[in-house]
Amino acid sequence: MNQFIKQLWRAAILLSVSLILLSCVKKKAAHVILPPQVLASIDRQNIPVDNHVTQNIPILMYHYVGAVPQNQKNNLVRQDLTVPLSYFEEQLSWLSNEHFVTTTLDSVARLTAYKSGKKYAVLSFDDGYDDAYTNVFPLLKKHKFIGSFAIITDFVGRDGYMTWAQIREMSDAGMEIVSHSVSHKEMTLLSPKTLQYEIRQSKKILEKMLGKTINVFIYPSGFFNASVEDELLKSGYVAARTTKSGVAQSVDNPYELPAVRIHGAVDMGKFSQLIDRMMKKTIDSPVF
Ligand SMILES: [Zn+2]
Repeated sequence: MNQFIKQLWRAAILLSVSLILLSCVKKKAAHVILPPQVLASIDRQNIPVDNHVTQNIPILMYHYVGAVPQNQKNNLVRQDLTVPLSYFEEQLSWLSNEHFVTTTLDSVARLTAYKSGKKYAVLSFDDGYDDAYTNVFPLLKKHKFIGSFAIITDFVGRDGYMTWAQIREMSDAGMEIVSHSVSHKEMTLLSPKTLQYEIRQSKKILEKMLGKTINVFIYPSGFFNASVEDELLKSGYVAARTTKSGVAQSVDNPYELPAVRIHGAVDMGKFSQLIDRMMKKTIDSPVF
C-alpha cells in the first residue's frame, strides 16, 4: 500500500513538472521572432531571466498640435485630432518633471528587452503636418525631448504639410523621421506590387533626402496584416507602429507596436492618469 502511495506521488510530481514545462514552452512560443537587425543588437536570447522583465514604454500618438483653424471649428474629428498648444506644453512639462526620457520608435524594440532603470516614452506625430515644425519642434527642443515624425513622402511640400527643408532641419536636430508610406493608402487593400512600392519607395526617398537609414513604418490609418508585416521585414524595416491601444512591452511584436492616442480633450488630469496606468500595466492585464 505504502509503495502504491509512493508511486502515486511520483506520478503526480512528474505530471506537475511536465505541466510546468509545457506551460513554459507555450509561453516561449508566444514570444515573437525579432528581425535579424534587432536581434543582432540586443541578443534577447542571452538576457538572464531576471533581467528579461517587462519595461513599459508609452508611445503617445499625436496628429495636430495648435489651434483648430476657423473654417474647421465645427469639425468634431478635427477637434479630436488637435491638441491645444497649452495642453501640449503642459504635457511636456509633466513628462519632464516625472523624469521621462523620450526615445525613438527605432529603439523601442531594443529597449523593451531590458529593465533599464529609466522611464521611456515616445512622442509620435502622424502625417507630417506643418504644425509639427512650427509648434511641436520648438517645444521639444525647449524640453530637450525628441519626437518621432511620420512622413507621407508624396504629401511633402503640399499646403498644410512640412517641406523637405523643414523635415531635414528636424532630422539634423536629432528628431526621428519615419515612413508613413508614399500616399497614405490602406496597406491591406493593395496589390503585392503596390504594397511593395508604398513601403520601399517611401524608405528610399526619405533615406535619399535625409542621408539616414529609415527603420520604422507607421501603418496609414492603422491597417495592417501578415502580408504587410512580411513586406516590411523583407524591405529592411525593424519596427512598425499601429493604432492599437496599449503600451509597448518586452513581448510585443516590433511590427505591431501599440500606441495611445492623445485626444484634443485630454487635459492634464486625464493625461497623467493615462500615463500612470500605462506604466503600471503588466503583460497579462487587459489593455484599457
Ligand atoms: Zn496617417
